[in-house]
Amino acid sequence: MHIHHIAIAVRDLDTALAFYRDALGAEVAERREVPTEGVEIAFLPLGTSEIELLEPLDPDNSIGRFLEHRGEGIHHLCLLVDNVERTIARLEAQGARMATPVRVQEDGTRYAFIHPKSAQGVLIELYEKPAQ
Ligand code: ZN
Repeated sequence: MHIHHIAIAVRDLDTALAFYRDALGAEVAERREVPTEGVEIAFLPLGTSEIELLEPLDPDNSIGRFLEHRGEGIHHLCLLVDNVERTIARLEAQGARMATPVRVQEDGTRYAFIHPKSAQGVLIELYEKPAQ
């Protein structure tokens, strides 16, 4: 298990990139809109982890509401695990609550979010990459 990415909610991707890319020096590997999640995303790899910048496309979606209530900042961290279902089974057996069911991305990545109430206030995403 390792940290796959740390996601930061931002009001404006270009403004955020002026800091994370231009000032800090991280490189942008990918930038794209994800209409199903209502966000535009930029990925900045850093070693085995990456920073994910999230700008909401709609002020009323979950990232938009997060910005409204909490302002810009860390939105979630994502842990790469070997098996999402097994990890969830262990968590639920220990009384933890999930925030979402398991979903599958186009590339086959399986993911789900643990409820922040079960994780000391941190929204944690679990990622399982498809077998190569
Ligand atoms: Zn994420």
